[in-house]
Amino acid sequence: MLLMGWRGATPGKVINDGGVRPGQIVFNFEGEGLLERNERAAQRTRWFIAHEMAHFWLGTSGIAYRKPSEAWITEGGAEMMAFTLLAATDHDYALAELQHAVQDCIKSATKPVISAGERHENRTFYSCGATFALAAVSAQKRKGGRDYFDFIRPLLDEHRSDRLLGSADWLTRFDAVSGDSEAGGIVKSILSVGVADPTGAIETLFQQTGVPYSRNDNKLTLSANAI
Ligand SMILES: [Zn+2]
Repeated sequence: MLLMGWRGATPGKVINDGGVRPGQIVFNFEGEGLLERNERAAQRTRWFIAHEMAHFWLGTSGIAYRKPSEAWITEGGAEMMAFTLLAATDHDYALAELQHAVQDCIKSATKPVISAGERHENRTFYSCGATFALAAVSAQKRKGGRDYFDFIRPLLDEHRSDRLLGSADWLTRFDAVSGDSEAGGIVKSILSVGVADPTGAIETLFQQTGVPYSRNDNKLTLSANAI
């Protein structure tokens, strides 16, 4: 169920925020900036709904992480599921958001992802989580999969009773799908200790799993068919 509210045309404001409960997404709109059609706000709204909806399967109302430091599994997975859904109607936007996530992950991957919460860098759970999920989807596609659901479904089935998913579970599945390549070791290093050369590490991760990209200097640019 999607509940949407209008708080009024507050001068000088464009606000859209909300939250999620099991089976329910609540979204609030406020501000005079929303009286006219606002494409940026529309994109953000569609992203929010897609991301929160993904949590019905992967996240607090579906199967949750074991520890808060493992939020990269649920936030990154929800991002990947949301981008896949959004790509069907607005491919450029979904690709740009995924690209943004990869760049943000490169910026933060010198430090361990698992302690991002303690550093108040929660965005890292989304950006590196989505980057790892992208590698997982690409490896899965080589085996005939279509999207992130094909990667995560066996884990959701396996943990239907305890309803908890941890890094070790995810990495075991990733190793199986990526053929025990270097890829799992790279994800593990970024998660637990950080890496000295994030661009190089993520480039190797992309090569090992078949993520289509090109490299110019320190930037990895995703190809249009990355999503
Ligand atoms: Zn989320």
